[in-house]
Amino acid sequence: MKSRAALLREIRKPLSIENIEVKEPKGEEVLVRVEGAGLCRTDLRIWKGLEARPSFRLPIVLGHENAGRVVQIGDKVNGIRVGDRVVVYATWGDLSCRYCREGKFSLCKNQVIPGQTTNGGFSEYLLVPSYRWLVKTSELNPLDAAPLADAGTTSMGAVRKALPFVYKFPLPIIIVNGIGGLAVYVIQILKALVNNAIIVGISRSERHRDLAVKLGADYAVTPNEAEKIVNKLSEGLGASVAIDLVGTEESTHRLGKMLAQEGGIIEVGLEGKNISLDTFDLVVWNKQLLGSNYGTLNDLEDVTRLAEMGKIKSVIVKRKLDEINEALKDLEAGNVEGREVIVP
Ligand SMILES: [Zn+2]
Repeated sequence: MKSRAALLREIRKPLSIENIEVKEPKGEEVLVRVEGAGLCRTDLRIWKGLEARPSFRLPIVLGHENAGRVVQIGDKVNGIRVGDRVVVYATWGDLSCRYCREGKFSLCKNQVIPGQTTNGGFSEYLLVPSYRWLVKTSELNPLDAAPLADAGTTSMGAVRKALPFVYKFPLPIIIVNGIGGLAVYVIQILKALVNNAIIVGISRSERHRDLAVKLGADYAVTPNEAEKIVNKLSEGLGASVAIDLVGTEESTHRLGKMLAQEGGIIEVGLEGKNISLDTFDLVVWNKQLLGSNYGTLNDLEDVTRLAEMGKIKSVIVKRKLDEINEALKDLEAGNVEGREVIVP
């Protein structure tokens, strides 16, 4: 069937709105009418030619944060019916390697990602290869649901990796470094899951520090003020864990100095080429540095339920498919408060 979509034909050239052909679902496949597709910094990096998976080919429809309604299903689909509202998990593993068997689809070497290795959601219709990649949501508006597919799931995955560090300390201090699209979810998830933690947001931007407090951070400070306040709040012990959404050598080194012994940095940001922790901090003080990429299907499921309960809210800006090139420009210029969500 025909589907109106925004096609990336050439790197850094405006996306072209065209009709593409989308196949009808067979077997386990599900056809989703996309009602919300989040525009993520990864889309921007792909558009600029800065990021591409090995099987990336032009032309391609970008968009990996998708939500919508099921319109057609194959004959081997279980638990999903036509008319269901769904969020689409964005890493389609081969279901046969050792990582897929453990549900760690984002570690699968044969993973397919909508919008990165196959056509994504900046399109009226999206063919999902299996019902297994769908999480049902009856309560959520698709505009609010779409960013959960990546930003929400990635945040949930990072918070899960942070929790063992949180539970080591009776009064945990949790640092969230870099207040942007992910921090919106990280802070709200922490608030929903951990009662006694003190959350310290770090950002250079006053507007973003205000946002962090609005979302539930107990303190929001500049990078220069952070060490002093963490010391004071923890009576010199240091922070239990830092979730770093920046990921430069400077950010990790600075955060490492603020950790308590046995504390950890959960690294989510990818801005720098190298990151660092002092050898002494690692070996003698047993501090840890853990990478965290995306999340599991259960992370998507859990963040969707938290959103349905009203514990976390998406901050979104609605854009039409025809406005997608402006939306990309606004994202590049840093003019967006929250997540732009395209409605194809
Ligand atoms: Zn696999």
